[in-house]
Amino acid sequence: MDNKFSVETNCVQGAYQPKNGESRVMPIVQSTTWKYSSTEQMGRLFDLEESGYFYTRLANPTSDLVAAKICMLEGGVAAMLTSSGQAANFFAIFNVCEAGDHIVCSSAIYGGTYNLFAHTIKKMGIDATFVSPDATEEEIQAAIKPNTKLVFGETIANPALNVLDIETFAKTAHKNGLPFMIDNTFATPINCRPIEWGADIVIHSTTKYMDGHATSVGGCIVDAGTFDWAKYPEKFAGLVEPDETYHGVSYTGRFGKSAFIMKAVAQLMRDLGSIPGPMNAFLLNLGLETLHLRMPRHCENALAVAEYLQNHPKIAWVSYPGLPGDKEYDKAQKYMPNGTCGVLSFGVKGGREACVKFMDSLKLAAICTHVADCRTCVLHPASHTHRQMNDEELAAAGVSPDLIRFSVGIENKKDIIADIEQALANV
Ligand code: PLP
Repeated sequence: MDNKFSVETNCVQGAYQPKNGESRVMPIVQSTTWKYSSTEQMGRLFDLEESGYFYTRLANPTSDLVAAKICMLEGGVAAMLTSSGQAANFFAIFNVCEAGDHIVCSSAIYGGTYNLFAHTIKKMGIDATFVSPDATEEEIQAAIKPNTKLVFGETIANPALNVLDIETFAKTAHKNGLPFMIDNTFATPINCRPIEWGADIVIHSTTKYMDGHATSVGGCIVDAGTFDWAKYPEKFAGLVEPDETYHGVSYTGRFGKSAFIMKAVAQLMRDLGSIPGPMNAFLLNLGLETLHLRMPRHCENALAVAEYLQNHPKIAWVSYPGLPGDKEYDKAQKYMPNGTCGVLSFGVKGGREACVKFMDSLKLAAICTHVADCRTCVLHPASHTHRQMNDEELAAAGVSPDLIRFSVGIENKKDIIADIEQALANV
């Protein structure tokens, strides 16, 4: 991957540089299949002996270019797109785990990922142990078992907004001969590049800031190329030993540092599907072209909102890792000195009822089941995602009845704050 340019330049022009007479904009190859004139060549493509496209479920030029761009931004060696962030997280772990295996995971992760790890993969015979995002090396070590295959965390947790101590998690994983995987959705590679702190696999829900315009659900897996799978042939037999379902290929033997992604494409994408449509990959690329401009604005606006709320008499508490004094501030400064993300949470005094009044009074900020796009949006978990729970159950889930999740967009911050002000006046 040619990384001679800065992150900003790679956002705009990375991975696709047209040759003379080719389209200036990355083309959408909206085709399921490709034509060949010899059966022999098609056979070589199936055997992975020749590179070329033959069926979009396995590879598509538009998706490959967009994956290559995200790979450059994260500083990896290989990457693939998936149809959603959920698919990306599932593929990443299922690429090294099977029935009888175990994973160690930070408990501060997106609820959908928690469900996947705590319940769905359990039905496949894969167990998860959850540790605090602030776990010490000893605490993480205590959770690791002989059948553990990986350690997982989220850079900034959605919606808890904990900042993960990436170095501690990565170091402990490596000491045990395990890869460290991290979901970097909220920080994006503009604010944090986890590979530089020891992560081996970086995962994204590109649905969020990367797309940035709320048009396309998608995911991405990036391999740093740092983990030596072949050093542990028994633990990672699926990557090292011949794959009889793919003409006896050994992924580490044939593809070296790209083994992880090649296996995920050749085996998991082949068998499970979950590809993005080429059009969605194209739209994602449009988002990536301005990611480096949008992220600083999200952070600037979110900090201004957090500072405003902190001093408001009707606000009970504010949580934003970029806010001086926040419990996550020091870790945020270490891993994301230029900014964290645009999402913050806060409590309105008066609990559930006051929150509903506040939310219903907002005019610019929209009530949406989404975060991390260019338009300011807001969600009250107690009334929405967690509405079936009573106050005690909410507390057990770490969601207080007065918690409002506010995803600050890139509008003018004065307008966003004025909207909050007029809505609070109604409470
Ligand atoms: N990871 C994080 C941090 C998320 O916030 C989300 C969705 O909100 C996901 C993964 C799942 O992504 P998707 O909705 O694209 O499947």
